[in-house]
Amino acid sequence: MPSPVPNPDDSPAFPKIKISSRGAKRIKDGHVWVYRSDVSAADGVAPGSVARVVDERGKFLGTAFYSSASQIAIRLLSKEAIKDLNGLLRERIRFAIAYRQRFVTDTDAYRVVFSEADFLPGLIVDRYNDLLSFQVLTQATDAEPVRETVLAELTELLHPAAIAEKVEPKIRELEQLPARNSGLVQGDKGSTIFSMNGVRFHYDIKEGQKTGAFLDQRENYAAAATYAKGEALDVFCYHGGFALHLAQAGCKVTGLDSSRPALEVADRNATLNNREIEWIEGNAFDVLRDYAKGGQRYDAIVLDPPAFAKSKRDLDTALRGYKELNLRALKMLPPQGILVTCSCSYHVSPAEFLAVVAEAARDAHREVRILESRTQAKDHPILANVPETGYLKCLIMYVSN
Ligand code: SAH
Repeated sequence: MPSPVPNPDDSPAFPKIKISSRGAKRIKDGHVWVYRSDVSAADGVAPGSVARVVDERGKFLGTAFYSSASQIAIRLLSKEAIKDLNGLLRERIRFAIAYRQRFVTDTDAYRVVFSEADFLPGLIVDRYNDLLSFQVLTQATDAEPVRETVLAELTELLHPAAIAEKVEPKIRELEQLPARNSGLVQGDKGSTIFSMNGVRFHYDIKEGQKTGAFLDQRENYAAAATYAKGEALDVFCYHGGFALHLAQAGCKVTGLDSSRPALEVADRNATLNNREIEWIEGNAFDVLRDYAKGGQRYDAIVLDPPAFAKSKRDLDTALRGYKELNLRALKMLPPQGILVTCSCSYHVSPAEFLAVVAEAARDAHREVRILESRTQAKDHPILANVPETGYLKCLIMYVSN
């Protein structure tokens, strides 16, 4: 049985946090984060507490998770007073699963809980067939009673064969949480096979501890496969998500990545699906430069690089990186070619990303049309009032001449 979670309203001693009028406005405007600079008083509030948030005049604004370390001091859980935190967490998990049952199709792998976007700030849960992998990102979700409630509810509703925790040491350090190891916390099954859009993939807890799969691209894989034909190049292919979907659609595919371990899994995935795919290990910038110079041609090219802009400071460098990649790819695409170009940097807006691709097209003397302007799959919901929940851009372009 999970131990009871402290209840904010039962205890008059339950901590109260006072926030500035700017912080209060953010909450009233529908955002769920309040930054440390907008906290006016949090005396004696323990790290990771559930707290009552009030404005300068003492008016109640909502119940929130508090972090004593993060710049995001307050993550709102509810605009209401919470009577039963345990019950609320369970209800939110049920709600998250019901949303996926309604909107997620053709896959047994998807994000079950996406933090703020599922009103469970600081918690991420992914499902890979019969395995679950979760991540806690904050002091509050790391608290033992919260973990217990979350794992009990996930077990009851999804009956996983095993549950693994994925730990990002850097996040724990930033939240001033003690170090912890990644690994199984329940059950003993360490690997499985999952499928999406009829394509099968190996999943291994040990590899997944690093990255997992890029579930956010699931719908973009299927979309890309409806347009691509002929010879295709999947740049930054990782475990072959795009490559395998393009092969399923009949393309002759080459996948390129700088990571040998990633390519080894990609190759096992190709075998699993009875596909012949050529894998090239190399630095995308060098390989694309050489290919473009050498007059190499592809009918379809996918660009899905890692996040170049990890913070606002990196924006200019990131935009230069995107420009260069897209420029080289466009030089290799013949008329009627297809470019699938992605950016997962939150700090690069959809408008900035499109502008960079447009600039690359101009420089490459190509005319391109936007077939589709896409984003992350629906199991990674985007909250209209919390722009930070939306980060993935995926443009599918047609080279008209
Ligand atoms: N398209 C993939 C996800 C790509 S993640 C999918 O849908 O699953 C980014 C990938 O880029 C990682 O696999 C990483 O190994 C690779 N990578 C990072 N820098 C690179 C570089 N300079 N050249 C080639 N690959 C690189």
